[in-house]
Amino acid sequence: MFRKIPAPVLEVVKRLKDEGHQAYLVGGCVRDMLRGLEPEDWDVATSAVPEVVQELFPRVIPTGVQFGTVTVLLAGEGIEVTTFRRDGVYRDGRRPSTVTFGTDVEADLLRRDFTINALAYDPLEDRLLDPTGGIADLKAGLVRAVGNPAVRFQEDALRLLRAIRFAGQIGGEIEPATWTALCRLSSRLKLIAPERIRQEMDKILLQEPVRPSLDRLAASGLLEIIFPALYEETRHPLMVSLKTCALVAPVLHRRLAGLLSGVADPVSQLLSLRYPKDLSRRVGHLVACLARLPREGTDLVAARGYLARLGRENLPDLLQLAEALAGAGGFDPGAHPAIKSFLESLNQAAKEDYPLSPDQLALDGRDLMAQLGLAPGPLVGKLRRLLWEEVLQD
Ligand code: ATP
Ligand code: MG
Repeated sequence: MFRKIPAPVLEVVKRLKDEGHQAYLVGGCVRDMLRGLEPEDWDVATSAVPEVVQELFPRVIPTGVQFGTVTVLLAGEGIEVTTFRRDGVYRDGRRPSTVTFGTDVEADLLRRDFTINALAYDPLEDRLLDPTGGIADLKAGLVRAVGNPAVRFQEDALRLLRAIRFAGQIGGEIEPATWTALCRLSSRLKLIAPERIRQEMDKILLQEPVRPSLDRLAASGLLEIIFPALYEETRHPLMVSLKTCALVAPVLHRRLAGLLSGVADPVSQLLSLRYPKDLSRRVGHLVACLARLPREGTDLVAARGYLARLGRENLPDLLQLAEALAGAGGFDPGAHPAIKSFLESLNQAAKEDYPLSPDQLALDGRDLMAQLGLAPGPLVGKLRRLLWEEVLQD
């Protein structure tokens, strides 16, 4: 394990220990190293209080000092250093109303969400601390709450989503008692801010394979809270949406478009989860184009018009979504040959050097006004559009 840890991370641990403090790598990075994966970020837990950490290192960002967290910047690496904590009572279902700093690493591990995350590693002595049986759970592929699962979900409802994310991440299962509590308490996710839900959802949606996580979201009741539009009137059954989502590549806009492929107004749904406007519109556009895919025999002329509205740059997304939706049973099987041939026409249209909008005609507005003696106005635009449609039809 030692060999893979970046030098600046080791340096932070060493400096803290040299000053007489305790310091361990904790949480996700230990879990990932045990699985032989490269951790994305490095968390250090220490007995030193934030003020002391801030004095020890020249470049420090006070990320969440009231919760004990500062980010140490060292040799291009950002390392989160958090003081050992005991959490006070949770009143709002989101975060503790008070935190107390402590000197006991074990107490710090016990406040963590799941046993596979309640691990600490001392890289200088090559010593692992595992007070909750996290290593065994990791080997067995089990996400198990630390302590009483219902209590832990009641404290912080974001853990409901995190459980599903980690089960997907380790390719495992949620331990039965944890799963029962999760399903029973799923409506508490409503206490969590949409931004935080979205962040977890994004990580889930980019998992590969994503299907087990999607199924757990649906079975637990969380999916209905996150994307209520999936449970309103849709173009196809939920199962088709889940399958479509799982069949496209792990790229956020594709996964979202697959998931919301049957929804009437995906843009509102995404905006209410605080997705950025441009991403929401992009997904909305893909879903709308997917829904418009002609279901009867169509020719190259129709493909040109469709491509113009779709936008050439969106063709790879659309083709993959269409294939996924077909694979998921989202089209009437009788329509498959027509859609297949239409998609071929689309590919062919994309290869042509055709004007994809009136702006691309050789004849521009000035030519028209000069030739027809017209004054500038909406009529010029209308004429250019008409001419362009003629060109599309050869
Ligand atoms: P990743 O970085 O892969 O998303 P992670 O396990 O590192 O996963 P983080 O959100 O970075 O997750 O949190 C770091 C550690 O902090 C976790 O491993 C866990 O021990 C603890 N933790 C984070 N969020 C919570 C929470 N909501 N409740 C309890 N413990 C938490
Ligand atoms: Mg992390």
